[in-house]
Parts: sequence; structure tokens; C-alpha cells
Amino acid sequence: MASRVIPVDPFDLVIFGGTGDLARRKILPGLFRRFQAGQMPDGARIIGAARSELDRAGYQQMIEDAIGEFGGAEKNDAEGLSKFLETLDYTPIDAKGTAGWDTLSSMVRPDVVQAFYFSVAPSLFGDIAARLHSNNIANSKSRIVVEKPFGRDLESAKALNKSLADHFDESQVYRIDHYLGKETVQNLMAVRFGNVLFEPLWNNHYVDHIQITVAETVGVEGRGAYYDRSGAMRDMVQNHLMQLLCLIAMEPPGQFGADEVRDEKLKVIRALQTVEPHHIVRGQYDAGPDGGGYREDAENPKSFTESFIAMKCHINNWRWAGVPFYLRTGKRMKARASEIAVVFKDLGHSIFEGDEKRHRNILAIRLQPNEGMDLQVTIKEPGPGGMRLVDVPLDMTFAEALGDGEHDVSDAYERLIMDVIRGNQTLFMRGDEVEAAWAWTDPLINGWEARNDVPKVYDAGSSGPEDALMLLHRDGRKWREIKG
Ligand code: NAD
Repeated sequence: MASRVIPVDPFDLVIFGGTGDLARRKILPGLFRRFQAGQMPDGARIIGAARSELDRAGYQQMIEDAIGEFGGAEKNDAEGLSKFLETLDYTPIDAKGTAGWDTLSSMVRPDVVQAFYFSVAPSLFGDIAARLHSNNIANSKSRIVVEKPFGRDLESAKALNKSLADHFDESQVYRIDHYLGKETVQNLMAVRFGNVLFEPLWNNHYVDHIQITVAETVGVEGRGAYYDRSGAMRDMVQNHLMQLLCLIAMEPPGQFGADEVRDEKLKVIRALQTVEPHHIVRGQYDAGPDGGGYREDAENPKSFTESFIAMKCHINNWRWAGVPFYLRTGKRMKARASEIAVVFKDLGHSIFEGDEKRHRNILAIRLQPNEGMDLQVTIKEPGPGGMRLVDVPLDMTFAEALGDGEHDVSDAYERLIMDVIRGNQTLFMRGDEVEAAWAWTDPLINGWEARNDVPKVYDAGSSGPEDALMLLHRDGRKWREIKG
């Protein structure tokens, strides 16, 4: 299957923080892949703006090195790379001062799509938004892209939203949650709303429960101090897992439009029940053969921050009443594996004598590794010996099904950046969504802080603390195995 590249209009993309880790590791290598795919039109330009005193040639060299270090196979295309580097420009800038803004103003063209990517600390969002405005660089059609973390609680998220809303309309603001740019995450919507098979069963009559797992093998090394102020709830649940939950639980939107989809996601967040404290398990990884424990990595021997969290949530609406959603995410787990599993109810009655096993269908959508889905179905065990039943997976890896190497494998960042240029906000979080997510998260965090809750220790390389297993055992259920 040939890849289909939808052309975009000429643009100026300004990357504030263009010398930073995210820009060098993700944004620029991603843009290079889009360039190679023929998606960057003639006349498109990328302008780095950051604190470093570099000139254009210095920036081009930095990005060439970054693509050499972080790019994939595409970096071997020397001719393409040198053409791509020609699209780059740079200006030193001070987000909090006056230096560089006149130069930037003379660089950005008013008659092409303008996108400003704020790949800087959130504390600079307001300053940059204000200066883009006061220097007359942005106009009513410009787009701004902001990175996570979008606040650390409802109050700070509201303040950030306001600092952007003072100068830009909501239709100009693109809040990135890179999970939404993942191919498989968009497949959640395709599977649900593009097939007649699943949607009739997608409710509390047929679904027993849903599990969402995002497991990482890495610890917090390198960013321990940052992580220790945040923890798994703020770093993963409030944004990424919440987005997955919304896509799996939302009502069908009238059409696949930005506000239609986001309206439905917002309704899910607002319908989330407050989670009971005994339905939350927080954990911290212990030292293992591959490294130190969480407190060592975080350089905080008294830290109460969680590197793992599991919880049982309920959505208060007609479709999902009584159906638990079990979420878990953690670092230093046994495998790097993310999936959403829809576990259907047991067959009410079996006509097969002697068949006492609980057969149930499970639809598992794998985000990583081997992006794909499998549907557990029950069939007859082959061979003589009567009607013995066995559960087998109808397994599909998207890369195989679509012809590995031929379909468009753009990664989350490049897809999302191209959506910004196209002006499509569907896969970006709206301000009210982010605030609603914090409004749900805040009381849970405040609750465990007030109780001085101490996270349970779990072995590095395990599936998390024992209590997380008990969370499901108590309900007569069990977690799916975390498999890499
Ligand atoms: P970084 O520290 O590596 O880079 C920061 C960039 O901001 C540099 O280019 C620096 O020159 C610029 N900068 C700092 N102060 C400035 C000022 N006063 N004026 C102008 N420029 C200034 O940070 P990063 O890791 O690239 O992260 C950038 C943003 O992206 C942060 O909000 C971070 O939370 C978010 N983010 C990063 C990652 C990642 O993988 N690195 C992942 C998700 C989100």
C-alpha cells in the first residue's frame, strides 16, 4: 500500500527552544522525515529561536548533528539532508526580554501559514505569547503549539490558559499530547466508529471491564528532580491515560471534527467519578540489578512521589454505569508495553457439557510494541475427544497487515506538526478538556498528600506492587500480563 502524503501550504514554523532536547530529539528529525516524504512545500521555513548565540550556519550544524544522533534510517540521505538544512534559519532570542524580537519580526512572513512552537518551559508560555503580540509578529491566523506539562493543578492550568487566551483565540492554540499523534491511538477511533461489529457491544450490557496499561522499563534517571515534583499521576494519568480513556469511552461524535470529538471527550472527563482512596495504589520502584531505586534516582531519600499508579475508575453515564476502568502506569516495569483491553462479559450459558472454563472475548489494542490489535475468541480445540473449547487470539500487527515498510509510518510529533500546519485541532487538547482533567485529578492528589500516603515499594522489573494485583483480585478479575 503506497503512502499518501497530503500537501500543506507554505509555512513559517518558529520553534522557541529550537536548541533544546525535545527540538533536537523529536521535532527536527520528525520534520526532516516529512521533508523527505515530500510534505514540506517549496518555500516552507523552520526558524529556531532560543537562548544560544548561534548564527544560521551554527544552527544548521547543530541540527545536522541532532539528526545524525537521533534520526532513523533517513539520516543516510545526505542530499536530502543538505536540502532540508537549507530550510532552517535561526535567531537568538530572550523570551523574557527584548533581544531578538525585532530580528524574528523581520524573518516571519505575514502571508504564509505561521506556526509558533513553544518548546520551552511552561513558565515562558505567557511571555512568548505576549511578545509575539506586542511585536506584531503573530496575527489572527497564526497558530501556537504548546508542550506538556500544561500546569500541575487546576489553578496553574487556568493561569496558563489565560496567559495564552489574552493574546490568542482558542482556535489558534494547539496543546500537544503526543499520545494522540500515535497511529494506534487514532485507530481506537477507526476501530470503534469504522466497523459495525464493535459499537453495538460497546456498553455495560456486554463489557465487563476495561484495562489501560502504559508500562515503561526505564526509570527516572536523568530527570529525577523534575519527575519527583510530578509523579505518575501528573506525568502520565492526567494527560496520556486520560486521553486514552476518553477515546475508548466517548460517545460517537456526529462527525470527525475537532470540536465534535473534543466535546465528546470532555463529557467523559466530566462524568468521571472521584476515585475512592482504597481504589488507588501508588508505588515506588526498588533498586534492581539494572540500577538504583526510585529515591536514589530522584535524589530524594524521603520522597513520597509515585513512579507507579493503578486505580479503578467509574464513568457516571448510561453507557458505562457499573463498568470499572482499571488504569495503571509505571516506570521500571517488567516490559515496555502499552495496551487497552476491552474485556467482554462471560457467556451467560454454555451448551457444551463439561466446559467449565470462563470464556470471554477480549479486544486488546496494542500501542507498543508491535502496534496492532488482537481479539480473543473461543474455538474448538482441534482433534478428537469431543467438544473441548480453547481461547485463541485473532492477532493482527498493523505493520504486517498493511505491508511493512510501505505505509506511512510518521511518528507522533511529525503527524501532529503537520496537523498544526493544516489547521486541524482534532488531535490536540482543548483548554476546557485540560482544566476538566485537572479538576478530576486535584482532589485525588490532595487526598493522598493530606493522608501522607506512602507509596508501596515494588521490585524493579516487576508488574508493580502486590496491592495493584489485589485491586483486581478483590473484584474477581486479574490484570493482563505485561508483555514486551
Ligand atoms: P531544554 O531545557 O532541553 O531546552 C529548553 C530550550 O528553551 C532551549 O532551547 C533554551 O535555549 C530555551 N530557552 C530557555 N530559556 C529561554 C529564554 N528565556 N528565552 C528563550 N529561550 C529560552 O528543554 P526540552 O527538554 O527541550 O523541553 C522543552 C519543553 O518541552 C518543556 O516544556 C518540556 O516540559 C517539554 N517536553 C519535553 C520533552 C522531552 O522529551 N525533552 C517531552 C515532553 C515535553
